[in-house]
Amino acid sequence: MHIVSLAGGIGGARFLRGLRATAPDDQITVIGNTGDDITLFGLRVCPDLDTVMYTLGGGIDEAQGWGRAEETHVVKEELAAYGVEPQWFGLGDRDFATHIVRSQMLEAGYPLSQITQALCARWQPGVRLLPMSDDRCETHVIITDEHGKRAVHFQEWWVRLRASVAAESFALVGVDQAKPAPGVLDAIADADVVILPPSNPVVSIGTILQVPGIRDALTAKTVVGVSPIIGGAPVRGMADACLTAIGVETSAQAVLELYGSDLIGGWLVAPEDASVALDGVRVEARPLLMHDLDATAAIARAALDLAQELTR
Ligand code: GDP
Ligand code: CA
Repeated sequence: MHIVSLAGGIGGARFLRGLRATAPDDQITVIGNTGDDITLFGLRVCPDLDTVMYTLGGGIDEAQGWGRAEETHVVKEELAAYGVEPQWFGLGDRDFATHIVRSQMLEAGYPLSQITQALCARWQPGVRLLPMSDDRCETHVIITDEHGKRAVHFQEWWVRLRASVAAESFALVGVDQAKPAPGVLDAIADADVVILPPSNPVVSIGTILQVPGIRDALTAKTVVGVSPIIGGAPVRGMADACLTAIGVETSAQAVLELYGSDLIGGWLVAPEDASVALDGVRVEARPLLMHDLDATAAIARAALDLAQELTR
């Protein structure tokens, strides 16, 4: 089987570890979110691609969920000693090496998709990891604070402000001109099943769906999604702040409606959300907490089984 999964960072990466465990003989292509990407200290940083790569490659800081295990922060301290901004984004020394390699290759003219492949040659994630696009498109957040109404990079809102200032809207800068990365549309066309993991529906999955051509390609497929919202709250992180900004309630029902029945064929919700329903969508309730690999693999297996039932 060829499984295509979209993915953000932590939620997507953890789910993929379960998916790979339950489907070891299947081919898995991951389309990763690059809307979080940012240039810092002259280096190109792709947080979600790296979280997937490190998690599946065994290099992730497990407790934190992002960044490298056994990390040190000498470079960050030295930059701070020079007073160089920003100091709110925590890049570790080992992680810096990844961004240096990526930036060197970008400078040499390689597209992000080939660079990601080169980085994965070291990490062997066991999936084919593709950025959603080789074209730069970054999520910006419209806020009003003491400086007035302005747009800040998503990372500034998420990491520096911890989403404490209300987002008025999001703008995926550059998306109109962006094309899906080479391989993305072919992978979708070739997929037997498409999975939407429990990633952030606005700034992870929602971003990928905005790249021209991707959503249309997906609607022709059997797509099963896993709710990132359980009992009216995100399991981890601040997805509620993102949903509120686009006028969507933080519930498994509202996220399903946001994705729409033209896209979604099957929707996994937690037991407390068993009343969720939408015409044209098969909803199944089961435990959705990814607390260990076995639990996560069971969720991924349920998604695959539901997809297979839908294709029958
Ligand atoms: P990010 O890019 O690092 O923010 O990660 P993602 O976008 O991939 O995933 C974030 C989402 O994962 C959040 O909205 C969480 O609610 C969701 N999430 C995290 N852990 C779990 C879990 O154990 N179960 C479910 N169902 N969702 C989870
Ligand atoms: Ca992210």
